[in-house]
Amino acid sequence: MQVLKFGGSSVKNAENINKVIAIVKDKIRIQKTIVVVSALGGITDLLLQCCKLASENNEAYKEKLLEAEHRHLQTVKDLIPLTQQSSILSLVKTLCNEIEDICNGIFLLRELSERTKDRVVSYGEILSSQIITAKLKASLSECEWKDSRELIITNSSFGAAAVNFTVTNQNIKDYFSASNAQLFMLPGFVASDANGNNTTLGRGGSDYTAAILAAALDAKVLEIWTDVSGMMTADPRLVSNVKIIPQISYQEAMELSHFGAKVIYPPTIQPVSTKGIPTWIKNTFAPEDEGTIIQKESALNGNSIRGISSINNISLLSLEGSGMVGIPGFSKRLFEALAVKQVNVILITQGSSEHSICVGIDAVNADIAKKAIDDTFAYEIETGKVDPIIVEKELAIVALVGDNMKSHPGISGKMFGNLGRNGVNVRAIAQGSSERNISAVISVHDVKKAINVLHEEFFETVYKEINLFIAGVGNVGSKLVAQIQQQQEYLLQHLKLKINVAGLKNSRKMLVNEQGIDLGKWKELLLNDGQPTDLGEFISTIQSKNLRNTVFADVTANDIVATTYDRLLEKGISVVACNKVACSSSYDYYKKLKKLTGEFNAQFLFETNVGASLPIISTLNDLMRSGDKIHKMQAVLSGTLNFVFNNYDGKKTFASVVKQAQEEGYTEPDPRLDLSGKDVMRKIMILAREAGEHFEMEDIINNSFMPAECMQGSVADFYQSMEQYEEHFRKLYDQAAAAGSKLKFVATYEDGEAAVGLQHIDPVHDFYHLYGKDNIVLFYTDRYPNQPLVIKGAGAGADVTASGVFADIIRSARV
Ligand code: ADP
Ligand code: ASP
Ligand code: MG
Repeated sequence: MQVLKFGGSSVKNAENINKVIAIVKDKIRIQKTIVVVSALGGITDLLLQCCKLASENNEAYKEKLLEAEHRHLQTVKDLIPLTQQSSILSLVKTLCNEIEDICNGIFLLRELSERTKDRVVSYGEILSSQIITAKLKASLSECEWKDSRELIITNSSFGAAAVNFTVTNQNIKDYFSASNAQLFMLPGFVASDANGNNTTLGRGGSDYTAAILAAALDAKVLEIWTDVSGMMTADPRLVSNVKIIPQISYQEAMELSHFGAKVIYPPTIQPVSTKGIPTWIKNTFAPEDEGTIIQKESALNGNSIRGISSINNISLLSLEGSGMVGIPGFSKRLFEALAVKQVNVILITQGSSEHSICVGIDAVNADIAKKAIDDTFAYEIETGKVDPIIVEKELAIVALVGDNMKSHPGISGKMFGNLGRNGVNVRAIAQGSSERNISAVISVHDVKKAINVLHEEFFETVYKEINLFIAGVGNVGSKLVAQIQQQQEYLLQHLKLKINVAGLKNSRKMLVNEQGIDLGKWKELLLNDGQPTDLGEFISTIQSKNLRNTVFADVTANDIVATTYDRLLEKGISVVACNKVACSSSYDYYKKLKKLTGEFNAQFLFETNVGASLPIISTLNDLMRSGDKIHKMQAVLSGTLNFVFNNYDGKKTFASVVKQAQEEGYTEPDPRLDLSGKDVMRKIMILAREAGEHFEMEDIINNSFMPAECMQGSVADFYQSMEQYEEHFRKLYDQAAAAGSKLKFVATYEDGEAAVGLQHIDPVHDFYHLYGKDNIVLFYTDRYPNQPLVIKGAGAGADVTASGVFADIIRSARV
């Protein structure tokens, strides 16, 4: 004997039912077969809507009823040859009339009991099973229909009744042993109580019907045919790269389904596991796929976690108070209060201080539960021994499930570490002593992110995904996008990293696409599909999208953009900036951002603030972290000024050399920031801050070489006035040349003092042979007292800056 169950989507319409018929035909060649079916997909919900509308005295229920009737009639017409339709058509009509009669009654009385609801929804399974039987009879000539309500007997808890197994098992055995048929068809979900009232086994309960039959008859196998190719490592609607679990133990399947894996109705496992009946999850739409086998032993597959699931709509009740400590009986009274009101407890935690007990329940019961507990503890609340119960709503549970977790330490560490790094706040934690399940209560708004983060971590699926939002797609930004596009394949293959550019923004337009912007045509997309730019909205969208591993890259030089970092870091979103404004603004803001990174496990990386992609800041950080102390830093940090003084020899005017630097992309958007030495001041200040110094801009001495007049007015005025001061620049050059030196704009930090200014560099100095736009930094430290640690190389240019930002983005994901 084998039992096959086909779910709502498998029998949704004639086309799908034909697939079911093909599977059944194939199966019955082997052995005696029982087929259990759900209602046509969506019908149960539709019938419930009819009941609700009718009870609200809303005539719209009639239209819904017509829709239900039409779907069944249409299915018959599409499925069964014309000559054999009449008897089933009239049966469908009769049954639909019965539903209508009941609904009319509900409408007139404006009353809807759970019992009546069960009666109405049961028609869904009765209709579907009758229609499919008619089809099987038409094509196979043999199929025995049996009403499950005559076999499965339950108590009278309408909506989700409990089965009386003694009576039910006997009924089933008696009936099937008395029949010689080879193929049976039964409606799932429906049952009846001892008084003959129609009951149901709970939403999704057709799986359970099939399991009850299989267990009572010691079936060889139970097959649950649905619309996915097996039980997956997570809900495929939440995670895109789920894997099929080929084998899973009864216990694991039970835990996963109890914690939200809808593919199987939780009570289903119990009857089959007691009898050890192998249970397959198979796909009606891809019958050749292997599917999942649920059996006693879970296979060792090298992974300690079998699956991840979640349940939404959880409320957390916390009972707290100093009067609870050390006094027995509080929890008994708490759980009794809940049990009396039939409130099911999903999760329990209690700290060893016994100062509080926390229980997770279905949110629909939250108000009843609060009242029940407050009443039970009214005396203790009044005398201040316990506080009034606290109810938190909009919560969810995410659970990791696996039989082998117990032999693998560190799983909860990994779980909570990953959630923490992604800014998911965990409200309560529970781990059963079986160590088969670790559950965390989190906000419903974080569920998708949490499940994806955990899935990436534990299943090392194909890749880890970074969701990147870029502000600024000008010179550097567009290079960055190009580099990401070019490297995407490499990162995926070698680092298992997928960079999903989810948002782009420039000063005119912004575009957000969670699925990833096509980098091959981002310019057109931004131009044509982009919204008018709005920084505030861009940042709020990034926050509200709440995607995992989110990184915000600031590739602007904009002051306002820099003020948004705290809002992002507070949400656990990492910030990568080549924009220097934040790190060189007030020390308080810089410090605040640093603090937020620790508090919210986000990264704030800005390697390109100094020397483009040269590893200056990371080296300084490494020195500091490993216990070294910085005494002195000496540096040429302006690619622009270096370019200018390397190219200026009096033959062309100073102004034209500056212009050339700007045209070649080596200057800040406003070149005066470079020429004034202000940009170098910012850089040395950032280095000093990273070295532990509490510096503001006023603390840096600027020995500027620019005549004050040149710095007034617009950028055009600036170029013009530099032409007028050509003699001044020429003199600076000649003096240095006469001394056999070169001019370099040098930044120094030494024992708490920092200064910038033009210096004569003689040929033996490390700085003498510094060409083009190169930067150089000398670190004198405890470990490098005389011979400094030197970092030298190209320190400006859109390509290198973009690559530095790119490296920071990757770094942010891999820490
Ligand atoms: P049926 O109508 O066949 O009973 P259900 O809708 O009850 O089917 O269950 C199948 C659905 O369960 C799938 O389409 C899938 O979206 C959902 N699901 C949730 N979690 C999981 C999981 N871990 N593995 C597979 N499917 C899951
Ligand atoms: N038709 C019922 C429901 O939708 C039972 C089932 O499909 O398993 O809940
Ligand atoms: Mg189901």
